[in-house]
Formats: sequence, structure tokens, C-alpha cells
Amino acid sequence: MVKVLAPAKLNLGLRILDRRPDGYHEIETVFVPLRLFDELEIEASPEPGIHLECDDPALPLDGRNLAVRAAERTSAALGVEPAWAIRLRKRIPVAAGLGGGSSDAAAVILGLEELAGTALDSRVRAELARGLGADVPFFLDPRPAVGRGVGDRLEPIPDVPELSWLLVRLPFGISTAEAYQSASRELTLPRRGSSIAALLGPSGAVGSPENDLETFAVRGHPEIEQARRALLEEGARAAGMSGSGPTVYGLFDDTEAARAVAARVTGARLPEGAEVIVSTSPGSGFSDWGWGVAKW
Ligand code: ATP
Repeated sequence: MVKVLAPAKLNLGLRILDRRPDGYHEIETVFVPLRLFDELEIEASPEPGIHLECDDPALPLDGRNLAVRAAERTSAALGVEPAWAIRLRKRIPVAAGLGGGSSDAAAVILGLEELAGTALDSRVRAELARGLGADVPFFLDPRPAVGRGVGDRLEPIPDVPELSWLLVRLPFGISTAEAYQSASRELTLPRRGSSIAALLGPSGAVGSPENDLETFAVRGHPEIEQARRALLEEGARAAGMSGSGPTVYGLFDDTEAARAVAARVTGARLPEGAEVIVSTSPGSGFSDWGWGVAKW
């Protein structure tokens, strides 16, 4: 059996640069992984097929679940019969812009390689991940990185320190596809890349992360701006919506500061029903930060 910890991610800033014929968009974004994990246990099953158990009853257990789809495609790539039992404990809020489904998919790829005792060629692994979703390649080796292309061309950012975050999960969903469509309808594309790569450095995040999707999401959901403003007024060094939202992040000096703000703003300055999570992201130099595959 293998146990895999599948981390969440934040997108700090997201610029849409162009629209592609396949419906995806060329973007530029900064990814950071978080110490907030889904937990997967995977083992060989005597019954053929992919048998998923999940503690979140709202999630599908068939091929609509990215963990199942990843297991089917990884088995094919490894040349083994798909016969696996997967137990998935969801800890990452679903449809929050925190990448939970994509991370689960990457965890299954890595877990099945370990169980099968075969490493896929790195190009084949990257292609498999990309076919499962634009964010999946990031989770094969999660570290602070600039994402270009559809988010799959990754360039690690050196010298980023460990950072402390307060996440505000707002109580509504935003469809990633619709968010991109409405933003790209109004933007004049193509645009040139920005200096988003300079957002993170040895001193942590600086400047104001621009998120094209936030600009449009705020129109339908003023709570996003309300949460962002509350975090900035409470001393966040940077704040914004992560990716396609609706999670809003604030960067604080340390986890104590983030916890103190969480206690102050919950139920007072945040929209009703908002859930707060304090988490940290590992710096560029961390190779062993809690994420990964363990064989049992
Ligand atoms: P991203 O930031 O990559 O756009 P997200 O964090 O906003 O993703 P997810 O939590 O990955 O969103 O889920 C989005 C949708 O995918 C959900 O509506 C859910 O039904 C579906 N889904 C499929 N498999 C999973 C999974 N293993 N975990 C969570 N959601 C899943």
C-alpha cells in the first residue's frame, strides 16, 4: 500500500495573455504549494477496476473523479491492468481554487508508479498529467514556481522563504471555465507577459498580485473585495483571490499573526458563512516538507 499526501496550492496573481483554439488560455501565474493536504491510500485490488472510497459524499466516485481518471490513464501508461483500491480523505476545500482535484490526480500518478515499481519517463509523466488538467503538472513537483502556457510550463522560483497564509473560503462556487470566458471576452488579447515572476523573492511576496479573473469575479461577488480589504486592513502584506476563486488569501509575517487575524475577522468583518484556514507554504529550498509518497 502507498500513502500519498496531496497538497493544495495558491495562485498569486494570474494574467490572461491569450486565448487558444482549444478553448484554454495562455496565462502567467505564480504557484505556491500549501501544507494543507488531501490524504490518499492506494493498494492493489483483487477486483479489476478502480474502486474509490471518499469521505466527501458530494464527490463522484466514477470516472468524473480526477483520482479515478488518473488511475485509469496511469495504469495504461504503465502497461498494467487497472485493479486498484483508493481511499481519499478530502481536507482541501472543493471547488475553491485550491487545486484539490488536480493534486489528487498527481498523487495517484506518483502513487501508482511507486506501487508498480516502475518510473514513467519524465516526459510521458508530464504529458499524462497535462492531459488530466492544466494544474496537474505543478503537483508532480510542487514548489514555488511561475506557471506559463496553460499553467503547465513551470519555472521554479529560487530563494522564496517559508510563508504564512490566512485563507478565506467564501461560501459560493465560481466555475473556472465561466470565469475565464467572461474575463477573456472583455480583455483585448493577446497581451504581453508582466512582471508577475517578480512577485515572490527572498523577502516574500511584494507588490500587488494582479488577477484578471478576480477583476471579473468581484462584479458578481462583492464579498471577494470585502474579504480582500479586510485582510489588508488587518495588516496582510499582500492579499487577493487565488486563481479562479473564490478563496481569498492574505500573507502574514507568521502563523501567530495569521491566527490572531483569523480570530478577529471571523464572523465580524468577513462575509457570513466564510471559512478561514491558516496554512504555510514551504520555501524554494525545502525538498522534504511533508508532501510525498510513502510505501507501507
Ligand atoms: P482549480 O483551482 O484547479 O481550478 P479547484 O480547486 O477550484 O480547482 P477542485 O476542488 O479540484 O476545484 O474541484 C473542482 C470540481 O472537480 C468539483 O466540482 C468536483 O466535483 C470535481 N472533482 C473531480 N474529482 C475531484 C477530486 N478528487 N477532488 C475534488 N474535486 C473533484
